[in-house]
Amino acid sequence: MSSERLNPAYRIIEPTGTPVPVVFDSPHSGSIYPADFGHILDPMLLRQAEDAHIDELFAPVAAMGAPLLHALFPRSYIDANRAETDIDLSMIAGDWPDPVAPSTKTTERGAGLIWKLMRGEGALYDRKLTVVEVRHRIDTYWRPYHDALARLIDDTHARHGISYHVDCHSMPAMGDANSEDGPVARPDFIVGDRDGTACEPGFTALIAAHLKAEGFHVTINDPYKGVELTRRYSNAAAGRHSLQLEINRRLFMDEATLAKTPGYLEIEAVLTRLNRAIVDYAKAQAV
Ligand SMILES: [Zn+2]
Repeated sequence: MSSERLNPAYRIIEPTGTPVPVVFDSPHSGSIYPADFGHILDPMLLRQAEDAHIDELFAPVAAMGAPLLHALFPRSYIDANRAETDIDLSMIAGDWPDPVAPSTKTTERGAGLIWKLMRGEGALYDRKLTVVEVRHRIDTYWRPYHDALARLIDDTHARHGISYHVDCHSMPAMGDANSEDGPVARPDFIVGDRDGTACEPGFTALIAAHLKAEGFHVTINDPYKGVELTRRYSNAAAGRHSLQLEINRRLFMDEATLAKTPGYLEIEAVLTRLNRAIVDYAKAQAV
């Protein structure tokens, strides 16, 4: 077993068979809570921030020739889908020594790199965090995750001359007063390509059309367009395509207990068919 496999930040499910020009990642399904977290919330409430089961739902891509990178740490501890600079300085004791650029979409809602609020409600902490502990979260979890994803995409692009990255997520069935869409029921799937900038349009269209043909309600970039991972690892002009896929949790799990519901097996089959279509499409583009 290589040292990479023992990294506390992530696991890579290595592909078997002929490699294909696709990389999948699940940045929010981690559920190993570090001992130094020091939050004050009810643990089960905090666990509702996880994209539970997404790593397992996408694991079959390895047998199709694509790696799956998944985080082991929870997003509520440090969020891999945020920029390293998306920091709320009011949460930190002392002077933060590095540049900050808080995002209106994330930090101002209490969900930047280090979350302040759980779904815009309860505060995670009754204290300020030290510079040392925030640095530790970045250096031990955020950066190794990003380094691993960059390596997988670089290797894939070098081998095939093109790469497709699918950033895999789940979303609560309802928005809330603090979310971008407000307290409304969400579609079954949201495909995000940062308003057409993170991948070529055919890739977005393929995924949306495939899911619609299976009878699902699908929106594109509404309200989720893709955040840091699709931004950072996309360069469509250079053949590096990235897309965010959000799956509605009510299709496969109980949001309060995180338990799988009977719909889980159906969604597992839906995703296996979708991922097969993604792989076939990417292989055709690489020729
Ligand atoms: Zn997510």
